[in-house]
Amino acid sequence: MPETYSPDVCIVGAGPGGATAALFLAKAGVDCLLVEKARFPRDKICGDALSGKVVQLLKKLDPSILEDLAREPTQIGSSGVVFVAPNLKALRVPFRSSTRQLDGPAGFLCRRMDFDHFLVKQTRKYPGIQLLEGTEITKYSRRDDHWILESADGTRTITTRLLIIADGAHSRFARHHGSILQEDKHYVAGLRAYYRNVSGMDRENFIELHFLKEFLPGYFWIFPLSDHMANVGVGMRSDQVSSRKVHLKNKMLEMIGTLPSLKERFKGASLEGDIRGYGLPLGSRKRKISGEGYMLIGDAGSLIDPFTGEGIGNAMASAMAAAETAVSCLGRNDLGSAALASYDRLFYGRLWAELNLSYKMQRLGGHFPGLINLVVNKAAANRTLGETISCMFEDLDMRDRLKKPSFYFKLMFGGN
Ligand SMILES: Cc1cc2nc3c(=O)[nH]c(=O)nc-3n(C[C@H](O)[C@H](O)[C@H](O)COP(=O)(O)OP(=O)(O)OC[C@H]3O[C@@H](n4cnc5c(N)ncnc54)[C@H](O)[C@@H]3O)c2cc1C
Repeated sequence: MPETYSPDVCIVGAGPGGATAALFLAKAGVDCLLVEKARFPRDKICGDALSGKVVQLLKKLDPSILEDLAREPTQIGSSGVVFVAPNLKALRVPFRSSTRQLDGPAGFLCRRMDFDHFLVKQTRKYPGIQLLEGTEITKYSRRDDHWILESADGTRTITTRLLIIADGAHSRFARHHGSILQEDKHYVAGLRAYYRNVSGMDRENFIELHFLKEFLPGYFWIFPLSDHMANVGVGMRSDQVSSRKVHLKNKMLEMIGTLPSLKERFKGASLEGDIRGYGLPLGSRKRKISGEGYMLIGDAGSLIDPFTGEGIGNAMASAMAAAETAVSCLGRNDLGSAALASYDRLFYGRLWAELNLSYKMQRLGGHFPGLINLVVNKAAANRTLGETISCMFEDLDMRDRLKKPSFYFKLMFGGN
C-alpha cells in the first residue's frame, strides 16, 4: 500500500521557488508538505548569480537568513557588473542605487548545489514544513475540490486542496494542466561550465556579461566563484538558435579558444566536469499562472527576466505572492480559480512593468547591437552617464530611459 498524505497545501519542487514559498507560509503559520524528486545537496544548471532581488526577499523573509548566507564559506559577495559590448569595449559598473542602503554586497555568487541546500536547511527549522525528498510526482488528477498526486514509484499518494507548483522549467503540471507550452521566442537555451583559474577576474568580484554578436540577443558570461572557480556560460533565445543553426556548445568553445581577449584569459584554465545545458522559460509574455486549486511559481510559471536571465529572484518573488494568496484564500475557504486569480494580479502587479521593460531591452539589443556599442563607448568616457547606468539596475524609471529613442539621440549628439 502506498503511504498517504493529506496536507492542506502541497508544494511540488524544493528549488528556490518551492523552498521560499514554504518559508513564507511557515512565517504566516500555515503548514505545508514540500515534495522534491532529488535529495539535497543537488545540482541545478545555472549561472549561480544571486541578485539584489534575492537579497531583498531574504531580508523580508527573515534578516537572520541573509546573515547566515553571508557567513557561508561557499558564497562570495558581488557589487557590480562588467559589460562587454559587441565591439569588445568593456564598461565596469558598480551596482549603486539611489534607494539601496550600502550595508553589504548588492548580490552574491554561490553554486546552486550550495545555495539550494542552504535554503532547504532553513525549511528544516520549521516543524510546520514537512519535506519529502526522493519523491518524483508524475501523476496529477482532480477529484471534487482536491488534487491527487502520485509518485513515480507508486509508493506515495498525496491528496491536497491547494497545489503550489514549483517544479521548474520542465514542469509536467504546467504543460498538462496549466497549458503553458514552450514558445521558442520566449525561451532561452542555456549552457553552464565550471572553469578553474580563469585569469583577469575582477578584483571586486564583478560579474561579466559579454554581449558578443554571435549570441545576441543573449550573452556569454563569466561569473566569479569561491576557490578560484568561475561559472562560465551562454544563453541565447531558442528561436535564434534554430534559425541561425547555432551549435551553442561548439560556438562557446570556439569563442573561448579564438577571441584574443578570452583566449588569453582561459590559457591556464581547466574545465571541471561537463558543459551542461538547460532551458530558461522567459516572462516576456503574460500567462495565466493559477487555476482551480493551483498556482504556478518560478520557472514552472515562465517568469525569468527576458534581458538578464535572472530567475531565482523572480521565483522567490512569485513564491512570496503565492504564499500571501494562499493565506488569504485558505482564510476565506475559497480555492477556486476566481479566488486564486488574485495571485496573477498580485505577482504581475509587482513585476510586469519590469518584465515588459526587460523584454523591450532584449529586443532592442538583438536588433541594434550598435546601440550597446554606443552606450558602452559613451559611458566609458563619461562619469555621469556611467553613474546613471549604475542606478538603472535597481531603479525602473531610470531603466525606462534606455528604451526611449531620445536617450540614444542625446547620446549621439552630445548630451546624456
Ligand atoms: C544556464 C542557466 C543559467 C542561469 N543563470 C541564472 C543566474 O545566474 N541567476 C538567476 O537568478 N537565474 C539564473 N537562471 C535561472 C534559474 O536557474 C531559474 O530561474 C531558477 O532555478 C528557478 O527556480 P525554481 O525554484 O522555479 O525552479 P528550479 O530551481 O528548477 O527547482 C525546481 C525543483 O523541482 C524539482 N522537481 C522537478 N520535477 C519534479 C517532480 N516531478 N516532482 C518533484 N520535484 C520535482 C527539481 O528537482 C528542483 O529541485 C539560469 C538558468 C539556466 C538554465
